[in-house]
Amino acid sequence: MAVTFCKYIVVGGGVAGGYAAREFVKLGLQPGELTIFSKEAAAPYERPALSKAYMFPDAPARLPGFHVCVGSGGERQLPEWYAEKGIELKLETEIVKADVENKTVTTDKGEVYEYGTLLLATGSTFLDLADFKTAGADAKGIFYLRDLRDADKLVDAIKGTNGGEAVVVGGGYIGLELAACLTVNKIKVTMVFPDPCFMPRLFTPELASFYEGYYEGKGVNVIKGTSVTAFEKDDNGQVSKVLLKDGRTLESTLVVVGVGAKPVLAPFKGLLEEEKGGFKVDASFKTSAPGVYAVGDVATFPMKMYGDTRRVEHVDHARKSAMQAVQAIKAAEKGEVVDEYDYLPFFYSRSFDLSWQFYGDNVGETVIWGREGAAAPGSKFGAYWVKDNKVMGAFLEGGSADENKLIAKVAREQPTVNAKEDLVAAGLGFASKI
Ligand code: FAD
Ligand code: NDP
Repeated sequence: MAVTFCKYIVVGGGVAGGYAAREFVKLGLQPGELTIFSKEAAAPYERPALSKAYMFPDAPARLPGFHVCVGSGGERQLPEWYAEKGIELKLETEIVKADVENKTVTTDKGEVYEYGTLLLATGSTFLDLADFKTAGADAKGIFYLRDLRDADKLVDAIKGTNGGEAVVVGGGYIGLELAACLTVNKIKVTMVFPDPCFMPRLFTPELASFYEGYYEGKGVNVIKGTSVTAFEKDDNGQVSKVLLKDGRTLESTLVVVGVGAKPVLAPFKGLLEEEKGGFKVDASFKTSAPGVYAVGDVATFPMKMYGDTRRVEHVDHARKSAMQAVQAIKAAEKGEVVDEYDYLPFFYSRSFDLSWQFYGDNVGETVIWGREGAAAPGSKFGAYWVKDNKVMGAFLEGGSADENKLIAKVAREQPTVNAKEDLVAAGLGFASKI
């Protein structure tokens, strides 16, 4: 069987795949050296747009408007960009088999490629309610969101719903961002999730109460503390009812689900060491197999700041880890090493007129400032996370670019505080003095 050799192979043409391509080019890629395989039909794009501007009823974002790397202020990498740089971008091509001993990968079309260096950027996929054995989860009208194809299906369903009703299952990132998008599309939304508040892994109930009140003010019905047990379908197999554990029944022909994601490890599972659900990598994103790197959602990496290892499912890390890995690959070729990855966690979300950013670690006690006046137009509020008298994390709603830089600096520098009351009184002023 013919085997094609390629110096660098990237598996996955998502956010990290796109940023890896940019970094290779920046560091002097020669034509023919890089091949990227992607299951998707589109060149790498900024995935966050799908649960935001892609769903807008007016002037929605559409490709080529949000190809990588517009999200970080870079050049928009259209499909032509890859061709110009001599990069082979093999779209709608899945890698289905790998052999890390012989350094080969095999596509779903049966082609075999040998790599010098392999970069895994296969991302995540959504958790499906069918995986939880929720009865009726195969009904028509139940939507998930990971890629453009999912987004297009949801856009069509939104148009078809024409001002009707929808149930959103999940109170995390997808649930919150899509509940807002549906509402903006004049669809009456009911959100259902088992947690006691929105985004419990980051928000405290007090912090979440601002967002819950805001969503309710926009007409969203928020049902907390219960989950979906089953869906009922009509004669056409279309979802008609959503049955909840607490005995309630919601009528809806449109359901949007965001109950979490899982990293895509196939077909490399079993070939590489794993940790905390991802491929274990070092501070250069090198896996346990020679010449194989893993970045983005699938990598469990050393978090230098906190002395532990983590897997992060957010876009900032996808971009930065891809750049770090490519820099490490190029440095290794010259017998050099790069500085260790020193990541400051950064999460954000935007919905309705809201926009928050969080930096650092949400450990210790949460100190919220500005909460009382938060609903007033133009006001700001935020939070600090304090552990052992050190500020470990910082959150800000409605911050300007400069203000967000201030809270990032706090999280990076971890200043000492003696009295939490001082933080409450100073609010953002505390960050501006660091
Ligand atoms: P992905 O971007 O998911 O790319 C993986 C790619 O690999 C996909 O194209 C996939 O089809 C392909 N692939 C997988 N297996 C194979 C294979 N065997 N062969 C070939 N190709 C393969 N994060 C934020 O911080 N802020 C946000 O606002 C935000 N919004 C988001 C909105 C949505 C709708 C989603 C789904 C995620 C969002 N995220 C956000 C998370 C962020 O987009 C991800 O963390 C990021 O995309 C991860 O990058 P990645 O390259 O690791 O994976
Ligand atoms: P999240 O993990 O953010 O949220 C899932 C939520 O659904 C959690 O609150 C979870 O509760 C809840 N849940 C779990 N099981 C059920 C159930 N059976 N019924 C109802 N609710 C349930 O995942 P998402 O699906 O929101 O996001 C998927 C991926 O997309 C993630 O990787 C995320 O990072 C990414 N994303 C990021 C965005 C951003 O950063 N702004 C925007 C959009 C997506 P519990 O916590 O108790 O498990």
